[in-house]
This record gives sequence, C-alpha cells and structure tokens, in this order.
Amino acid sequence: MIKQNVNVNADTPSIWFIFSAEKLLVPHEAQGPLIESWNNLGFAHAYKEQIVQVGEHNEQMCYLIDMGNEVIEHSGAQLAHLRSLLLHDDLELFSVAARAWQVALFLRTHRFCGQCGSTMQKIDWEMAMQCHRCHHRCYPRISPCIIVAIRHEDKILLAQGKPQKDRNMFSTLAGFVESGETLENAVHREVFEEVGVAIKNLRYMSSQPWPFPHSLMVGFLADFDSGDIKVDGHEIIEAHWFKYDELPNIPPKFSIAGQLIERTIEEICAE
Ligand SMILES: [Zn+2]
Repeated sequence: MIKQNVNVNADTPSIWFIFSAEKLLVPHEAQGPLIESWNNLGFAHAYKEQIVQVGEHNEQMCYLIDMGNEVIEHSGAQLAHLRSLLLHDDLELFSVAARAWQVALFLRTHRFCGQCGSTMQKIDWEMAMQCHRCHHRCYPRISPCIIVAIRHEDKILLAQGKPQKDRNMFSTLAGFVESGETLENAVHREVFEEVGVAIKNLRYMSSQPWPFPHSLMVGFLADFDSGDIKVDGHEIIEAHWFKYDELPNIPPKFSIAGQLIERTIEEICAE
C-alpha cells in the first residue's frame, strides 16, 4: 500500500498530501487536500525523489511530500492543521491523510540510527528505514490506545481530561497500552486508575487510526461492575454517570469516542 521511489504520471491530477512543519497544504476554496497534476506543482519538483505513494482515493493516486520546515508558496493554497480535514466528513480520505502524516513523521524522526547513530536509508520493498552500518531496521510507529464506553443501567460514564483542548467536552476513557500488556488488561487498568471503577462484560467494537501523532484507537464497550467514581486528578479532572438522554457536550460521530457513545445509547434503548 505504501510505496517509495514511485513514478508519478505528470499530467493526471492526483491527491497530494504536502506537509510543511506540522501543517498540510490545502486549497483556499475547498475543504480537503490539494488535487493537482505534478506539472502544476513546480514548487515541489526539488522533492521528486522523496515522493511516497500512500494509497488511492476515488480512483486517484494519493502522494505524500514532506517539505520539512520549508515555507510553501503556491497560489490558491494555504497551510492548515490536519484536523481541518476532519471537517470534510470523508473518513476514508482522512485515514489516507492520517497515513501520510504518520509516514512523514516516521521519515523525519528516523534519519539516524537509534542504535549506532549512523545515517538510515529507505528500503525499497517496504515502508522501513535501515541503518547501513549495523542493519538496525525501523518501521513506522503505531501506538495502540484503548478507549472504552462504560454503561450502568441507563447511564454512561463520561469524563473530562486535564489538558483542556476541548473545553466542556465529556468523553469516554482512553489510555495507551503498556509494554507486555493485553488490550483487555489495559482497559481494566486504565479505567481503574482514572476513575476507580471496576468493569465487566468487556467487548471489542471497532478501531480507528488517530494521527495525533500515531495512535491506533481500539474501541471497547463495557458494563459497570463495582466502585464509586474517584478521579485521579492528573489525567481526568471530572467524571460522572450521565443518563443516556441527558448527555453533556460529547465528541462528534466520526470519532470512535462518538461511535462508542452512540452504540451504548442504542443498546440502552433496545432494552
Ligand atoms: Zn546503526
């Protein structure tokens, strides 16, 4: 799926994920990435050897170019945060963008070997970087992160995290999986650490790549078992049981948190 050293058809419009620093080049007028033929991207021609094919979308090829910190000047386009693509409502396109960003980040952070410090080189046949000296090989990093909606009768447990990026938003609990831990262990541990509650009847629902910066959100549903809510005060500052038809401000439905909440409401209403 991901290919390096590609030959681009110069005349056919393709979808371009062109990054500068932390931002993506997007058209002024439309929401979404740039759709252009290579011939119209003169400013990027010095980067031809660094093009990575990151997938296809609506029968158009999708390519990544990472311009590092170089300032991009392209008429009709501007730099925007990757999150702006979430407004586009096209989850499939967002997932290609997510892949592009994660590959860009991987290549940026693996120029030198973590074992011996020598220069790393791209491998032709797979998305990886290898040290020419000690042969240490690295793949794009993916960090598994569990996320869980907990139900108690007609209520859902929702919490507010500390770094208040989304003011007044309550969401499902989430946390990174630790080394040597199963996904199930991680769910039980995170829930107990963050809100002091024990859960049961844990079921996998679905997953979602989340490129901020390289998480794979693994979504579960669970039922309350025992314990009173006691927030840890570090990661979680507030948590409550909310009745399913009296919910606070919650994440949108394209996010897995929104989908977990929706599924829990469906299960409550079905009984
Ligand atoms: Zn090395």
